[in-house]
Amino acid sequence: MWGLDLALKRPYSLSGGRLHFERLDSTILRLDTDEGLVGWGEGCPWGSTYLPAFAGGIRAGVAELAPTVLGLDPRRTDVVYRAMDLALPGHGYVKSAIDMACWDLAAQAAGLPLCDLLGGRTDGSVRLHSSIPSGTVDELLAEIDLARAEGYTFHSAKIGADVETDVERMRTLDAAMGPGEELTFDVNRSWTPAEAITALNTTREILRVVEQPCQTYGQHLAVRAAVGQPLAIDESLVTVDDMVRAVGDRACEVVGLKVGRVGGITPARRIRDVAVAAGIRMNVEDTGGTALSATAAVHLAQATPEPLRRATWLCFDHLTDNPVEGGVANDGGTATAPDSPGIGAVPDQAALGQPLAIFEANR
Ligand code: MG
Repeated sequence: MWGLDLALKRPYSLSGGRLHFERLDSTILRLDTDEGLVGWGEGCPWGSTYLPAFAGGIRAGVAELAPTVLGLDPRRTDVVYRAMDLALPGHGYVKSAIDMACWDLAAQAAGLPLCDLLGGRTDGSVRLHSSIPSGTVDELLAEIDLARAEGYTFHSAKIGADVETDVERMRTLDAAMGPGEELTFDVNRSWTPAEAITALNTTREILRVVEQPCQTYGQHLAVRAAVGQPLAIDESLVTVDDMVRAVGDRACEVVGLKVGRVGGITPARRIRDVAVAAGIRMNVEDTGGTALSATAAVHLAQATPEPLRRATWLCFDHLTDNPVEGGVANDGGTATAPDSPGIGAVPDQAALGQPLAIFEANR
């Protein structure tokens, strides 16, 4: 297990500036097997303030779970996950890196790219969306131009401030979209229900998806009942049960399915299947990290049928360094899951330095 300090190319603000990041702290796991196969997993919350998750929690949790996991057959991903749940209920974000390494091994052992174990590769490539940090209207437009220069045609603009400022941002950004461009307004929990209802009813002619307007799911439902725009749930989707409940409540048309937040590929796949059955579109991605976690997420997206596969975010496009060999790349605003067996992205061990800890099975 390694810690990896990742610098952002530019500082990043969201949720009305309440959250501000300049670096990320990622945890990389290498899982070695008796057969000689090596699997890799990554867990990287978006800082320690975006979610109830932090890098130190992952590392402590991996140490707690190592005696349970080591010695199990990593190809039996559900069996491993049940054992982790028994040893440490909850704490899904802690389990994601372990689960990812198991899926990498399962797919390598099968001789298949991971997407073919998650339902099968669909045709075409996965559309990417940019992540536009919060700022003034001019700053938002400048960031969108930078994203366009990298090929992005789908933008997730972070808003969330006073209603007047946000109404101006929404109208200006909506008008700035060209043919074929898509736009999401991501509020990242910043509005009260009253602010959300006012802002969205003032801009009811703009039918863009509005993501996670309020802090809690209950607040989201209050907004749902009072506005007509399509809504997305992101931070409030943590468990499979959250997804089932959102379907029953008709709470949203879109979800942000972030692998790390929901506890790994295993629960993300279950949530994906519920959303497919309900006709809910998904942004399939991770909460942060290098091309390792991004490639794992692209495999899940690649195995999700269109039009329910909406867009995917590559965190590593924001990083100064991405010490990973292979994996996905931003190819004109799209990405394609690798063909090689497993995830197909391997961290550069020289760049990782000394491991923080090594755990071994009791024999
Ligand atoms: Mg979001």
